[in-house]
Amino acid sequence: MKRHTGQDKEATSSWRLETRLVRGGTWRSEMGETSEAMFMTSGYAYDCAEDAAARFAGEQDGYTYSRLRNPTAAMFEDRMALIEGAEVARATATGMAAVTAALLAILKAGDHVVSSRALFGSCRYVVETLLPRFGVEVTLVDGRDVEAWKAAMRPETAAVFLETPANPTLDVVDLQFVCDLAHDHGALVVVDNVFATPVLQKPMAYGADIVVYSATKHIDGQGRCLGGCILSSEQLLEEQLLPFLRNTGPNISPFNAWVMLKGLETLELRIHRMCDNAARLADMLADMKGFVRVSYPGRKDFAQHELAMKQMSRGGTILCVEVPGGREQAFKFLNSLKIIDISNNIGDAKSLMTHPASTTHASVAEEARLQMGITEGMLRLSVGLEHVEDLMEDLLQAAAQAGIAE
Ligand SMILES: *Cc1c(COP(=O)(O)O)cnc(C)c1O
Repeated sequence: MKRHTGQDKEATSSWRLETRLVRGGTWRSEMGETSEAMFMTSGYAYDCAEDAAARFAGEQDGYTYSRLRNPTAAMFEDRMALIEGAEVARATATGMAAVTAALLAILKAGDHVVSSRALFGSCRYVVETLLPRFGVEVTLVDGRDVEAWKAAMRPETAAVFLETPANPTLDVVDLQFVCDLAHDHGALVVVDNVFATPVLQKPMAYGADIVVYSATKHIDGQGRCLGGCILSSEQLLEEQLLPFLRNTGPNISPFNAWVMLKGLETLELRIHRMCDNAARLADMLADMKGFVRVSYPGRKDFAQHELAMKQMSRGGTILCVEVPGGREQAFKFLNSLKIIDISNNIGDAKSLMTHPASTTHASVAEEARLQMGITEGMLRLSVGLEHVEDLMEDLLQAAAQAGIAE
Protein backbone atom coordinates (compact mmCIF):
# COMPACT_ATOMS: atom_id res chain seq x y z
CA MET A 1 0.00 0.00 0.00
CA LYS A 2 1.18 3.46 -0.83
CA ARG A 3 0.84 6.17 1.69
CA HIS A 4 -1.46 8.96 0.64
CA THR A 5 -1.88 12.41 2.13
CA GLY A 6 -5.19 11.17 3.57
CA GLN A 7 -3.10 9.19 6.07
CA ASP A 8 -0.71 12.04 6.85
CA LYS A 9 -1.63 13.29 10.32
CA GLU A 10 0.05 16.65 9.86
CA ALA A 11 -1.55 17.34 6.49
CA THR A 12 -5.04 16.20 7.45
CA SER A 13 -5.05 18.12 10.73
CA SER A 14 -5.25 21.42 8.81
CA TRP A 15 -7.89 20.17 6.36
CA ARG A 16 -11.38 21.56 6.60
CA LEU A 17 -14.42 19.31 6.95
CA GLU A 18 -15.23 19.05 3.22
CA THR A 19 -11.68 17.95 2.39
CA ARG A 20 -11.63 15.43 5.22
CA LEU A 21 -14.93 13.97 3.99
CA VAL A 22 -13.53 13.43 0.49
CA ARG A 23 -9.92 12.46 1.19
CA GLY A 24 -9.41 11.67 4.87
CA GLY A 25 -8.03 8.24 5.72
CA THR A 26 -7.32 7.23 2.13
CA TRP A 27 -4.65 4.65 1.38
CA ARG A 28 -3.66 4.02 -2.23
CA SER A 29 -2.50 0.63 -3.48
CA GLU A 30 0.30 0.02 -6.02
CA MET A 31 -2.35 0.39 -8.74
CA GLY A 32 -2.73 4.10 -8.06
CA GLU A 33 -6.54 3.99 -8.01
CA THR A 34 -8.36 7.29 -7.39
CA SER A 35 -11.36 5.67 -5.69
CA GLU A 36 -10.65 3.78 -2.49
CA ALA A 37 -9.95 0.09 -3.12
CA MET A 38 -12.34 -2.55 -1.83
CA PHE A 39 -10.51 -5.37 -0.07
CA MET A 40 -13.06 -8.16 0.05
CA THR A 41 -10.85 -10.52 1.96
CA SER A 42 -11.26 -12.31 5.25
CA GLY A 43 -7.57 -13.21 5.67
CA TYR A 44 -4.06 -12.20 4.67
CA ALA A 45 -1.06 -14.26 3.51
CA TYR A 46 2.47 -13.76 4.85
CA ASP A 47 5.75 -13.98 2.95
CA CYS A 48 7.20 -16.29 5.59
CA ALA A 49 6.28 -17.90 8.91
CA GLU A 50 8.47 -15.40 10.72
CA ASP A 51 6.35 -12.54 9.36
CA ALA A 52 3.17 -14.25 10.55
CA ALA A 53 4.65 -14.67 14.03
CA ALA A 54 5.88 -11.05 14.08
CA ARG A 55 2.50 -9.73 13.02
CA PHE A 56 0.68 -11.71 15.68
CA ALA A 57 3.19 -10.48 18.24
CA GLY A 58 2.41 -6.91 17.19
CA GLU A 59 6.03 -6.38 16.11
CA GLN A 60 5.20 -5.90 12.45
CA ASP A 61 2.60 -3.59 10.89
CA GLY A 62 0.01 -5.24 8.72
CA TYR A 63 -3.21 -7.16 8.67
CA THR A 64 -3.88 -10.65 10.02
CA TYR A 65 -7.61 -11.26 9.85
CA SER A 66 -10.53 -9.02 8.87
CA ARG A 67 -12.31 -9.46 12.20
CA LEU A 68 -9.36 -7.59 13.68
CA ARG A 69 -8.85 -5.08 10.85
CA ASN A 70 -9.48 -4.71 7.15
CA PRO A 71 -7.90 -2.06 4.89
CA THR A 72 -11.20 -0.77 3.45
CA ALA A 73 -12.89 -0.70 6.84
CA ALA A 74 -9.76 1.03 8.20
CA MET A 75 -10.06 3.80 5.62
CA PHE A 76 -13.67 4.36 6.65
CA GLU A 77 -12.68 4.33 10.33
CA ASP A 78 -9.79 6.75 9.85
CA ARG A 79 -12.01 9.10 7.83
CA MET A 80 -14.75 8.97 10.49
CA ALA A 81 -12.22 9.78 13.22
CA LEU A 82 -10.93 12.78 11.25
CA ILE A 83 -14.45 14.10 10.67
CA GLU A 84 -15.47 13.71 14.30
CA GLY A 85 -12.23 15.01 15.72
CA ALA A 86 -11.82 11.72 17.60
CA GLU A 87 -8.49 9.95 18.04
CA VAL A 88 -9.79 6.63 16.72
CA ALA A 89 -12.82 4.86 15.30
CA ARG A 90 -14.00 1.31 14.73
CA ALA A 91 -16.74 0.43 12.25
CA THR A 92 -19.52 -2.04 12.97
CA ALA A 93 -22.09 -3.96 10.95
CA THR A 94 -25.00 -1.79 12.10
CA GLY A 95 -25.70 1.17 14.33
CA MET A 96 -27.15 -1.18 16.94
CA ALA A 97 -23.93 -3.23 16.90
CA ALA A 98 -22.08 0.04 17.67
CA VAL A 99 -24.42 0.96 20.55
CA THR A 100 -24.44 -2.55 22.04
CA ALA A 101 -20.70 -3.14 21.70
CA ALA A 102 -19.81 0.27 23.14
CA LEU A 103 -21.97 -0.31 26.22
CA LEU A 104 -21.07 -3.96 26.84
CA ALA A 105 -17.36 -3.18 26.39
CA ILE A 106 -17.29 -0.57 29.16
CA LEU A 107 -19.78 -2.08 31.64
CA LYS A 108 -19.77 -4.99 34.05
CA ALA A 109 -22.18 -6.52 36.55
CA GLY A 110 -22.75 -4.19 39.49
CA ASP A 111 -22.38 -1.02 37.42
CA HIS A 112 -25.14 1.56 37.12
CA VAL A 113 -26.14 3.43 33.98
CA VAL A 114 -28.18 6.60 33.61
CA SER A 115 -29.85 7.04 30.24
CA SER A 116 -32.27 9.47 28.68
CA ARG A 117 -35.58 7.70 28.16
CA ALA A 118 -36.39 9.18 24.75
CA LEU A 119 -34.43 6.75 22.61
CA PHE A 120 -34.66 4.81 19.38
CA GLY A 121 -36.67 1.61 20.13
CA SER A 122 -33.70 -0.77 19.93
CA CYS A 123 -31.47 1.53 21.99
CA ARG A 124 -34.20 1.58 24.60
CA TYR A 125 -34.29 -2.25 24.56
CA VAL A 126 -30.52 -2.46 25.05
CA VAL A 127 -30.44 -0.14 28.06
CA GLU A 128 -33.77 -1.03 29.63
CA THR A 129 -33.95 -4.80 29.04
CA LEU A 130 -30.58 -6.19 27.94
CA LEU A 131 -28.19 -4.47 30.36
CA PRO A 132 -30.17 -5.49 33.50
CA ARG A 133 -29.94 -9.15 32.37
CA PHE A 134 -26.19 -8.85 32.90
CA GLY A 135 -26.43 -7.24 36.31
CA VAL A 136 -26.23 -3.61 35.22
CA GLU A 137 -28.79 -1.36 36.89
CA VAL A 138 -30.32 1.34 34.72
CA THR A 139 -32.12 4.57 35.58
CA LEU A 140 -34.07 6.22 32.77
CA VAL A 141 -34.57 9.99 33.02
CA ASP A 142 -36.26 12.75 31.09
CA GLY A 143 -33.17 13.85 29.16
CA ARG A 144 -34.40 17.46 28.98
CA ASP A 145 -34.44 17.78 32.77
CA VAL A 146 -31.01 18.57 34.25
CA GLU A 147 -32.31 18.00 37.80
CA ALA A 148 -33.39 14.48 36.83
CA TRP A 149 -29.88 13.70 35.56
CA LYS A 150 -28.40 15.00 38.82
CA ALA A 151 -30.78 13.01 40.99
CA ALA A 152 -30.11 9.77 39.10
CA MET A 153 -26.32 9.71 39.53
CA ARG A 154 -24.88 7.23 42.02
CA PRO A 155 -21.36 6.38 43.19
CA GLU A 156 -21.46 3.23 41.05
CA THR A 157 -22.69 5.04 37.91
CA ALA A 158 -20.22 3.91 35.28
CA ALA A 159 -21.80 5.36 32.14
CA VAL A 160 -24.46 7.68 30.85
CA PHE A 161 -26.12 7.12 27.50
CA LEU A 162 -28.13 9.58 25.46
CA GLU A 163 -29.41 10.57 22.04
CA THR A 164 -29.69 14.25 21.16
CA PRO A 165 -31.87 15.11 19.38
CA ALA A 166 -33.69 11.90 20.29
CA ASN A 167 -35.43 9.57 17.87
CA PRO A 168 -38.26 10.47 17.25
CA THR A 169 -39.27 13.07 19.84
CA LEU A 170 -36.34 15.40 19.00
CA ASP A 171 -35.78 15.95 22.75
CA VAL A 172 -32.47 17.76 23.23
CA VAL A 173 -30.04 16.90 26.02
CA ASP A 174 -27.64 19.55 27.36
CA LEU A 175 -24.35 17.93 26.37
CA GLN A 176 -22.09 20.22 28.39
CA PHE A 177 -24.13 19.77 31.55
CA VAL A 178 -24.44 15.98 31.29
CA CYS A 179 -20.77 15.47 30.35
CA ASP A 180 -19.58 17.60 33.30
CA LEU A 181 -21.97 15.83 35.68
CA ALA A 182 -20.94 12.37 34.51
CA HIS A 183 -17.24 13.16 34.74
CA ASP A 184 -17.70 14.52 38.28
CA HIS A 185 -19.01 11.04 39.11
CA GLY A 186 -16.28 9.21 37.19
CA ALA A 187 -18.75 7.97 34.57
CA LEU A 188 -18.16 7.71 30.82
CA VAL A 189 -20.49 9.51 28.42
CA VAL A 190 -21.78 7.62 25.37
CA VAL A 191 -23.66 9.75 22.82
CA ASP A 192 -25.72 8.42 19.92
CA ASN A 193 -25.25 11.27 17.44
CA VAL A 194 -27.28 9.77 14.59
CA PHE A 195 -29.92 12.48 14.33
CA ALA A 196 -27.49 15.41 14.38
CA THR A 197 -24.80 13.80 12.19
CA PRO A 198 -21.10 14.72 12.49
CA VAL A 199 -21.74 17.66 10.15
CA LEU A 200 -24.07 19.47 12.58
CA GLN A 201 -22.93 18.44 16.07
CA LYS A 202 -19.69 17.35 17.75
CA PRO A 203 -20.44 15.74 21.15
CA MET A 204 -16.73 15.28 21.91
CA ALA A 205 -16.31 19.06 21.98
CA TYR A 206 -18.49 18.96 25.13
CA GLY A 207 -16.60 16.04 26.64
CA ALA A 208 -18.38 12.92 25.32
CA ASP A 209 -16.07 9.91 25.69
CA ILE A 210 -17.68 7.71 23.06
CA VAL A 211 -19.78 8.76 20.06
CA VAL A 212 -21.74 6.14 18.14
CA TYR A 213 -23.38 6.28 14.73
CA SER A 214 -25.70 4.29 12.62
CA ALA A 215 -23.93 4.82 9.28
CA THR A 216 -27.05 3.30 7.71
CA LYS A 217 -28.67 6.69 8.05
CA HIS A 218 -27.12 9.91 6.68
CA ILE A 219 -23.62 8.50 6.15
CA ASP A 220 -24.69 6.04 3.47
CA GLY A 221 -27.65 8.32 2.90
CA GLN A 222 -28.83 6.48 -0.16
CA GLY A 223 -30.62 3.53 1.40
CA ARG A 224 -28.13 0.84 0.38
CA CYS A 225 -26.16 -0.54 3.30
CA LEU A 226 -26.24 -1.06 7.04
CA GLY A 227 -23.27 0.10 9.06
CA GLY A 228 -22.18 1.73 12.29
CA CYS A 229 -19.23 3.37 13.95
CA ILE A 230 -17.77 3.83 17.45
CA LEU A 231 -15.44 6.77 18.10
CA SER A 232 -13.28 7.33 21.17
CA SER A 233 -9.84 8.16 22.50
CA GLU A 234 -6.98 5.81 21.72
CA GLN A 235 -6.70 4.84 25.37
CA LEU A 236 -10.36 3.91 25.70
CA LEU A 237 -10.15 1.95 22.46
CA GLU A 238 -7.05 0.01 23.48
CA GLU A 239 -8.06 -0.68 27.06
CA GLN A 240 -11.79 -1.27 26.86
CA LEU A 241 -13.27 -1.34 23.37
CA LEU A 242 -10.74 -3.39 21.39
CA PRO A 243 -10.64 -6.49 23.61
CA PHE A 244 -14.43 -6.68 23.25
CA LEU A 245 -14.60 -5.84 19.54
CA ARG A 246 -11.75 -8.11 18.44
CA ASN A 247 -13.16 -11.13 20.23
CA THR A 248 -16.88 -10.69 19.64
CA GLY A 249 -16.73 -9.57 15.98
CA PRO A 250 -19.47 -7.02 15.27
CA ASN A 251 -17.44 -5.78 12.26
CA ILE A 252 -18.66 -4.01 9.16
CA SER A 253 -18.24 -5.83 5.85
CA PRO A 254 -15.51 -4.34 3.59
CA PHE A 255 -18.15 -3.84 0.92
CA ASN A 256 -20.38 -1.83 3.23
CA ALA A 257 -17.38 0.17 4.49
CA TRP A 258 -16.58 1.05 0.88
CA VAL A 259 -20.16 2.23 0.28
CA MET A 260 -19.92 4.35 3.45
CA LEU A 261 -16.65 5.91 2.23
CA LYS A 262 -18.43 6.96 -0.95
CA GLY A 263 -21.36 8.25 1.11
CA LEU A 264 -19.07 10.42 3.23
CA GLU A 265 -17.78 12.22 0.13
CA THR A 266 -21.16 13.92 -0.33
CA LEU A 267 -22.33 14.01 3.31
CA GLU A 268 -21.83 17.73 3.86
CA LEU A 269 -23.64 18.70 0.67
CA ARG A 270 -26.54 16.38 1.39
CA ILE A 271 -26.97 17.44 5.01
CA HIS A 272 -27.14 21.13 4.12
CA ARG A 273 -29.65 20.58 1.34
CA MET A 274 -31.75 18.38 3.63
CA CYS A 275 -31.65 21.05 6.34
CA ASP A 276 -32.72 23.71 3.80
CA ASN A 277 -35.66 21.53 2.76
CA ALA A 278 -36.58 20.55 6.33
CA ALA A 279 -36.67 24.19 7.47
CA ARG A 280 -38.95 25.17 4.56
CA LEU A 281 -41.29 22.24 5.18
CA ALA A 282 -41.43 22.85 8.93
CA ASP A 283 -42.40 26.49 8.33
CA MET A 284 -45.09 25.51 5.88
CA LEU A 285 -46.57 22.85 8.17
CA ALA A 286 -46.44 25.16 11.20
CA ASP A 287 -48.39 27.81 9.24
CA MET A 288 -51.22 25.33 8.68
CA LYS A 289 -54.02 25.33 11.20
CA GLY A 290 -54.75 21.64 11.51
CA PHE A 291 -51.75 20.13 13.34
CA VAL A 292 -51.58 19.76 17.12
CA ARG A 293 -47.85 20.34 16.92
CA VAL A 294 -45.00 20.77 14.47
CA SER A 295 -41.58 20.06 16.01
CA TYR A 296 -38.38 21.17 14.33
CA PRO A 297 -35.32 22.15 16.40
CA GLY A 298 -34.49 24.94 13.94
CA ARG A 299 -37.76 26.80 14.59
CA LYS A 300 -38.05 29.45 17.29
CA ASP A 301 -41.23 27.81 18.62
CA PHE A 302 -39.36 24.55 19.36
CA ALA A 303 -39.33 24.14 23.16
CA GLN A 304 -35.55 23.65 23.34
CA HIS A 305 -34.64 25.81 20.34
CA GLU A 306 -31.91 27.77 22.12
CA LEU A 307 -30.11 24.70 23.47
CA ALA A 308 -30.49 22.89 20.15
CA MET A 309 -28.92 25.81 18.31
CA LYS A 310 -26.10 26.07 20.83
CA GLN A 311 -25.13 22.45 20.18
CA MET A 312 -26.07 22.03 16.52
CA SER A 313 -25.04 24.30 13.69
CA ARG A 314 -28.44 23.85 11.99
CA GLY A 315 -31.92 22.52 12.77
CA GLY A 316 -31.38 19.07 11.32
CA THR A 317 -32.96 16.90 8.66
CA ILE A 318 -35.90 15.52 10.63
CA LEU A 319 -39.17 17.01 11.81
CA CYS A 320 -42.28 15.69 13.51
CA VAL A 321 -45.93 16.61 13.23
CA GLU A 322 -48.85 15.53 15.33
CA VAL A 323 -52.29 15.17 13.78
CA PRO A 324 -55.30 15.59 16.08
CA GLY A 325 -57.12 12.44 14.93
CA GLY A 326 -54.77 9.80 16.33
CA ARG A 327 -53.67 6.70 14.47
CA GLU A 328 -56.56 6.76 11.99
CA GLN A 329 -55.78 10.23 10.72
CA ALA A 330 -52.02 9.61 10.81
CA PHE A 331 -52.46 6.52 8.63
CA LYS A 332 -54.76 8.45 6.28
CA PHE A 333 -52.05 11.09 5.94
CA LEU A 334 -49.35 8.48 5.20
CA ASN A 335 -51.54 6.57 2.77
CA SER A 336 -52.24 9.77 0.82
CA LEU A 337 -48.57 10.58 0.15
CA LYS A 338 -47.56 10.33 -3.50
CA ILE A 339 -43.83 11.18 -3.46
CA ILE A 340 -42.72 10.74 0.15
CA ASP A 341 -42.40 7.04 1.02
CA ILE A 342 -43.90 5.36 4.05
CA SER A 343 -40.65 4.07 5.52
CA ASN A 344 -38.97 3.92 8.91
CA ASN A 345 -35.43 4.74 7.74
CA ILE A 346 -33.97 8.24 8.11
CA GLY A 347 -31.22 10.28 6.47
CA ASP A 348 -32.02 8.99 2.98
CA ALA A 349 -31.92 11.02 -0.24
CA LYS A 350 -35.59 10.03 -0.53
CA SER A 351 -37.98 11.72 1.91
CA LEU A 352 -39.45 9.13 4.25
CA MET A 353 -42.32 9.38 6.70
CA THR A 354 -43.22 6.98 9.46
CA HIS A 355 -45.67 6.49 12.30
CA PRO A 356 -43.30 5.72 15.20
CA ALA A 357 -45.96 4.32 17.57
CA SER A 358 -46.73 1.44 15.19
CA THR A 359 -43.22 0.91 13.76
CA THR A 360 -39.88 2.03 15.24
CA HIS A 361 -41.34 2.30 18.75
CA ALA A 362 -44.01 -0.41 18.60
CA SER A 363 -41.88 -2.59 20.90
CA VAL A 364 -41.86 0.09 23.61
CA ALA A 365 -44.73 -0.34 26.11
CA GLU A 366 -47.61 2.09 25.46
CA GLU A 367 -47.19 3.85 28.77
CA ALA A 368 -43.47 4.38 28.19
CA ARG A 369 -44.20 5.55 24.66
CA LEU A 370 -46.65 8.19 25.86
CA GLN A 371 -44.25 9.24 28.61
CA MET A 372 -41.67 9.87 25.86
CA GLY A 373 -44.24 11.90 23.93
CA ILE A 374 -44.80 9.39 21.14
CA THR A 375 -48.53 9.73 20.59
CA GLU A 376 -50.78 7.88 18.15
CA GLY A 377 -51.02 11.04 16.05
CA MET A 378 -47.26 11.60 15.73
CA LEU A 379 -45.58 11.31 12.35
CA ARG A 380 -41.83 11.60 11.76
CA LEU A 381 -40.55 13.03 8.48
CA SER A 382 -36.98 12.46 7.34
CA VAL A 383 -36.48 15.12 4.71
CA GLY A 384 -34.63 14.12 1.55
CA LEU A 385 -33.12 15.75 -1.50
CA GLU A 386 -36.15 16.10 -3.77
CA HIS A 387 -37.15 19.60 -4.91
CA VAL A 388 -38.67 21.26 -1.87
CA GLU A 389 -41.73 22.46 -3.79
CA ASP A 390 -42.58 18.92 -4.84
CA LEU A 391 -42.36 17.88 -1.20
CA MET A 392 -44.53 20.85 -0.16
CA GLU A 393 -47.18 19.94 -2.70
CA ASP A 394 -47.12 16.31 -1.61
CA LEU A 395 -47.55 17.19 2.08
CA LEU A 396 -50.31 19.70 1.28
CA GLN A 397 -52.34 17.25 -0.77
CA ALA A 398 -51.87 14.48 1.83
CA ALA A 399 -52.96 16.85 4.59
CA ALA A 400 -56.06 17.79 2.59
CA GLN A 401 -56.87 14.11 2.01
CA ALA A 402 -56.51 13.46 5.74
CA GLY A 403 -58.83 16.36 6.53
CA ILE A 404 -56.22 18.74 7.95
CA ALA A 405 -57.07 22.37 7.22
CA GLU A 406 -54.56 24.60 5.47
C1 LIG B 1 -31.34 3.79 13.32
C2 LIG B 1 -30.79 4.20 14.61
C3 LIG B 1 -29.96 3.33 15.33
C4 LIG B 1 -29.65 1.93 14.87
O1 LIG B 1 -28.94 1.86 13.67
P1 LIG B 1 -29.00 0.57 12.71
O2 LIG B 1 -27.95 0.87 11.69
O3 LIG B 1 -30.39 0.51 12.15
O4 LIG B 1 -28.69 -0.61 13.54
C5 LIG B 1 -29.46 3.78 16.54
N1 LIG B 1 -29.76 4.99 17.02
C6 LIG B 1 -30.55 5.86 16.33
C7 LIG B 1 -30.84 7.20 16.93
C8 LIG B 1 -31.09 5.49 15.12
O5 LIG B 1 -31.88 6.35 14.46
